[in-house]
Order: sequence, then C-alpha cells, then structure tokens
Amino acid sequence: MSKSSANELNFRASVDLMFNRAASFMDISPKLIEKIRVCNATYIVRFGVKLRGDIHTFTGYRSVHSEHLEPVKGGIRYSPHVNQDEVEALAALMTYKTALVHVPFGGSKGGLCLSPKDWNEEELERITRRFTFELSRRDLIHPSLNVPAPDMGTGEREMAWMMDEYRRLHNTDINNIACVTGKPVHLGGIYGRVEATGRGVQYALREFFRHEDDKKKAGLKGDLDGKTVVVQGLGNVGYHTAKFISEEDGAKIITVIERDGVVRNKKGIDIEALKQHMLSGEPLSAFSGGEFSESDPAAICDPCDILIPAALEGVIHMDNAHSIKTKLIIEAANGPVTAKADKILRDKGVFIIPDMYANAGGVTVSYFEWVKNIGHIRFGRLQRRNEEAKNRSLIQALEEQGNLNFTKNFKEDFIEGALEIDLVRAGLDDTMRAGYKAIKLTLEENPQLEDMRTAAFYKAISDIALHYQSIGL
Ligand code: GLU
Repeated sequence: MSKSSANELNFRASVDLMFNRAASFMDISPKLIEKIRVCNATYIVRFGVKLRGDIHTFTGYRSVHSEHLEPVKGGIRYSPHVNQDEVEALAALMTYKTALVHVPFGGSKGGLCLSPKDWNEEELERITRRFTFELSRRDLIHPSLNVPAPDMGTGEREMAWMMDEYRRLHNTDINNIACVTGKPVHLGGIYGRVEATGRGVQYALREFFRHEDDKKKAGLKGDLDGKTVVVQGLGNVGYHTAKFISEEDGAKIITVIERDGVVRNKKGIDIEALKQHMLSGEPLSAFSGGEFSESDPAAICDPCDILIPAALEGVIHMDNAHSIKTKLIIEAANGPVTAKADKILRDKGVFIIPDMYANAGGVTVSYFEWVKNIGHIRFGRLQRRNEEAKNRSLIQALEEQGNLNFTKNFKEDFIEGALEIDLVRAGLDDTMRAGYKAIKLTLEENPQLEDMRTAAFYKAISDIALHYQSIGL
C-alpha cells in the first residue's frame, strides 16, 4: 500500500477540514459549530496482563466524540497502529454517520494497540476481558451510555468476550447483554450483522444506479451488471460487498488488492473462491483464479468503473489521487480518501459516495441488535405465523374464487412470514435508500454544496445543531 506524503494532514485534521467545508455554507453560530466538531473526551488506559510468564502492558483508547444522543456508539479496533488521532477521527465519523442515517446514537470509537496475530486465542481473551473491565470502570461500556461493536481486527468472538465480562460485572442489570453489538446470534446477536456493512454498500450502490442524474455525472449507464470493480481489502466489509455485487448484481471484480499482493482477472474474480483460498492459509500467489502480483501500490489506480476502498484510512492521498482511473468511488472503509485527495478527485470529476453514508450499514444493524436486546424478543416472533396464515388465506381465496393458479415456488415464497434476517435486510435497505435521498435533497436545496460528501456533512451537522438548539444550548 502506498504511503501518503508528509504534506498530508493527519486523519483527524482531514475529517475536520471536510467538516469545515460543509460548515462554511451554514448559517449557524461558529460557537455551536465548534461544539459539534470537537471530540468530547478520550480515555487512554494502560493495563498490564501476565502472559507467557511476563507482564505485558497494553494501551487502549475509547473516545467519545458527541453525547448529544446516548448511548454513544462505535467499534473497537485491534491494530498496532491505533492511536489517539485515529480513534478521535473515527469517533467523529460515527457521530456524523449515525446522525445522517437517523440511528439514535452519539459517536464513539475505541482501539487497542496490538496485533491480534501476535497472540493466541486464550491470550486475546484475557487481554479483551481486562480491557472490558477497564472500560466498564468508567462506564465506557454500558447498555445505556456506550455500546462498542466490531471494527478492524475484532469480530463476534471479541464481542462475546466483552459481553460476558460485562455481564459478570453487572449481573443484576436486565439489559446487560445490550452493552455491545456484533455478538454471535446464540449470545443475543442478530441475523445479518456480520454481513451488514457490505450489504449496506451493495444497497447504496443499487440506490446510486436508480438516479439517472448521478449516473450521468459519473459517466456511467445502466445498472451494476457488467461494471468493472477494483476492491481494496478483502476483510469483512470488502468481502461481503464484492461477493454480493458480483453474485447478485453481475458486477465484475477485476482487481482485489490485499496486504500481501494483488489478484487480477479481466473476466471477473470468483470472490468466494478467493476468500476460501485466503482462509485456508495458502499464499495469495497460489490462487488459480487470477493473475497474482506482489504488493503493487499502483493497483488502486487500475482502470475500472467502480473503486471500492474497503480497508484502511488514507489510502487515496494527494500523491496517488491524480492517477486514480475510476468513475465512481464508494467508501466502504472509514476515511479512505484524505481531504486533499478529495479535492483532486472532485476536480477530476470522480463521483464519490462518502464513507459516513456508504458504510453506515454496520451501525444500522447494530442499532437493530441493541433494540432487540433491550426488547428481549427476536424480531418477527409475534407476527410471523399470523402473517403466514393471512397470506395463505389470500392465495387460497384467489385460487378458489379468482380462478388463478400460482406456481408452487411462488406460493411458498409469498406465504412464508418474514424471518429476522428478512426484516433486518428490509430495514437496512430502507435506511440506505433514505440516507441517499436525504443527501440528494440537501444537495438540491443547497446546490452550492456541489458534492455528496459536503452535503452529507451538511445534513448531519444541521440535525445535530437542531438537537442542541432545541435543548437550549
Ligand atoms: N465499526 C463499525 C463502523 O465503523 C460499526 C460500528 C457499530 O456498529 O457500532 O461503523
């Protein structure tokens, strides 16, 4: 992966610059704008865990950007590169993201500075439980105040440990399992959370292709079918996005960029086969479904219709932005385009669907999980069979009295009441469509904003400002 030059702003400053651009078009007091922009607090904890006969000290962060709504929400990242600047930038993005898609949370983010591959499962569990204890002492994990979730380097396994540790510490709290989201389904998680961010990116792309004016701006036609796509990062988000848009919408994934190399195939890469290959532990170079090359910083500039950065922040920067050859960028990762690169790309006419909208699927389904946890009931449990009985009567009546004859497959599909996964996907689709339309409407009402990112910031900041103004701040 190419490194940006020293002239580039740090992540936090880059997010703030984009924020300021939107704020400059707003008629809101600069003091209130400042209150919205600043990060409320960042907690840094250093704790020791005895492992392999020695004490190891770990550094953890939990940053709370905005508490205008509580609980505050955001993932916890495990990476050796975690630092205060990154966690604060990511927490800020959570605030704007949740405001934009109307998920009633404030913004937060956490991180633990370690490389998960340096520790075995048992050791990671001990470290995670200890971190949870430290967070819990300061209410930085709490069902009604601060609800972590997975992010890079963490997943269902870590969330299960965190939930269990919290539950032990707070066993009289009836809502204790709502202290984190992204848990395994058998421990109070929700169907569709693992795929949620990638599924949301797919729904966002489908929505983009419903808007003729946006397609025209990007220089694209038709729908996702046959579009060439470059994906950077085949982690949870990149994998699900690439899999869904290739298997269900006919997009052609021509380049996959990973840490240890690049796979290219003009006919389209079989994403499931590539993922299975990667999971098997075989080197990327041994994958037979495409051409392999060693890590190639220029791969992100491969010509394509759609570029999907789905890994780290800052991968498109002022030094490579000029060479990007795509029509549309959809930011599946948080902050993949720096503020300076954003300007270069805008000037080049590249259409960008911004992170705070594009990857909001994860936190949206986290919201559904949290509601399920505090409701203590699975979605659809009360109505599913009732819905099924009504549908059956309708089909029967149409066949008997309307002389219609439906195929067995259609009848089965139509009659069956919605499962939790169906409801989650429907709710997510609705959220992604509404989010896109909200940005479009903001742009229509304020054409001076010019691009989707500025409009998304504008919309999010306006909603948060309204919140503060209504309570008299
Ligand atoms: N880490 C994800 C994000 O960046 C999900 C956060 C959540 O579900 O709370 O949006």
